[in-house]
Amino acid sequence: MIKLILGDITKLKVDAIVNAANAELVPGGGVDGAIRRAAGHELSEACERLGGCPTGEARLTLGFHLPARYVIHTAGPVWQGGDQGEAELLRQCYRSCFKQAMEKDIETIAFPCISTGVYGFPKQKAAAIAIKEMHFFENRFSEIIACCHSEEDRRIYLQVLGK
Ligand code: ADP
Repeated sequence: MIKLILGDITKLKVDAIVNAANAELVPGGGVDGAIRRAAGHELSEACERLGGCPTGEARLTLGFHLPARYVIHTAGPVWQGGDQGEAELLRQCYRSCFKQAMEKDIETIAFPCISTGVYGFPKQKAAAIAIKEMHFFENRFSEIIACCHSEEDRRIYLQVLGK
């Protein structure tokens, strides 16, 4: 089941939340900053030990002080106009996160709108990719949550979901 919510991903009591991180896994703003603040310094220490995450890949840590058991960090592509493989890299992000989740028996997983903040990926295009990948993996999980942080994002996701 795919569930759409409007809210703060750090508050969700799910098996795993996904972090829109950077390839160095160093502290960022946006959702990464919010997750680090809520999870505590242990999360940043765990990220440091991982030593980075190439764009399109994903890495797993514990959630530490978060209600979520795990955080799956993925580095989304920076939008550079669309001809630098951005769409395929974003697709890879979702797939890599689902793969990490399946290795850990994660049943419930929540995603932010990866790459659509500071990284500037067009929101409609990103939502179409996100929802397509979520549908592809839908049967493997009891709940996949698309966690939008703005009313605008929620509206776009509703459109893409055809609701
Ligand atoms: P990126 O660098 O991948 O673009 P950002 O963190 O800048 O990452 O933005 C990704 C998305 O995360 C944006 O849609 C932004 O609105 C959203 N976001 C920011 N804070 C939160 C939060 N606490 N919970 C859920 N989504 C959030």
